[in-house]
Amino acid sequence: MEIIEQKIKRCIKDFKSYTPVLFNGKYKLDANENSYEIPVFIKKKILRKILNIPLNRYPDPETKELKRILSKKLKVNKDMIFLGNGSDEIIFYLSQTFLEKGDTVIIPVPTFEMYKIISKINDAKVIEIPLTKNFDLDDKNIIKYAKITKAKFIFIAYPNNPTGNCFSKDKIINILKNTDAIVIIDEAYFEFSGKTFIKYLKKFKNLIILRTFSKAFSIAALRVGYMIANKEIVKVVNKVKLPYNVNSVSQLFAKEVLLNERYLKHNIQKIIFEREKLFEKISKKFFVVKSDSNFLFLKILDNKKAKKIFKKNKISIRFFQSGYAKDFIRITVGKNKENKLVLDILNKL
Ligand code: PMP
Repeated sequence: MEIIEQKIKRCIKDFKSYTPVLFNGKYKLDANENSYEIPVFIKKKILRKILNIPLNRYPDPETKELKRILSKKLKVNKDMIFLGNGSDEIIFYLSQTFLEKGDTVIIPVPTFEMYKIISKINDAKVIEIPLTKNFDLDDKNIIKYAKITKAKFIFIAYPNNPTGNCFSKDKIINILKNTDAIVIIDEAYFEFSGKTFIKYLKKFKNLIILRTFSKAFSIAALRVGYMIANKEIVKVVNKVKLPYNVNSVSQLFAKEVLLNERYLKHNIQKIIFEREKLFEKISKKFFVVKSDSNFLFLKILDNKKAKKIFKKNKISIRFFQSGYAKDFIRITVGKNKENKLVLDILNKL
């Protein structure tokens, strides 16, 4: 084994691979997925169309149809859109395009863990800047460290995962104005917040926006995400893109859910309604962050007890035992029945 050992890239030698929570419950509220499937009649309609996909052929390498529809919907030029096998893959491509050994990436914490993992795999140094006490960005320190280290990337999840809130717009603008770094604003939960930085793409050439079909659009299983950025950025990221990164079935589903968006909006509205109800009730007993997403982040005193009761009731949620989110739990907003169960359990804690 030593022969192999010697050859492993130094930056991943001591690395622990990321293992998503393994689900063995009945109610899955641990990964911020959409608790609703896409309506059955739309699913059936798409499945019929799948019959016409020539499976012996490679998918469209340029995802032209999807770009056309997205470009119309978002009112941006199609040269500004890039599609990936989930937004995870796009984060990977961005890192491969821009990061070299010794480069610095700035990450406010706690946040989505893949930013750090992917940066490290690509040999970058990660500087973590803790959020302020009220879970907002520490813009001054972010700017300061970005300058000192000539950071290549600053990641900002908007809304943030796991805290669920959108950071202050002014602080983000302040960062955009005062740094040369590429600022990657990850709007994975945009449809639940309604807040976006798209209109700033014209003004800030160093801005990248990420979106996904995994959350509001209910097709996490199919892995489709996209980036909106200035065309120079899209052009260069295309250099590292694998030719057929988004498969034909996923392209078709993503296209169809966009065309049938009005039917999905109903589910998004239901989730937002449930989120607000849940927040109000939970906040009577716990410290819970006001959410702009489809999940809630709250502090619990007895982690062990909570784990036991959630498990007993077959509900899977996300626990944070260490790090910046220590003693907090993250619960995806589910269907009405699931949320009632969550409340019952929390009331027993
Ligand atoms: N960004 C954030 C902030 C997320 O929370 C997640 C999923 N948990 C992703 C990106 C990944 O999304 P995708 O399924 O498109 O890879």
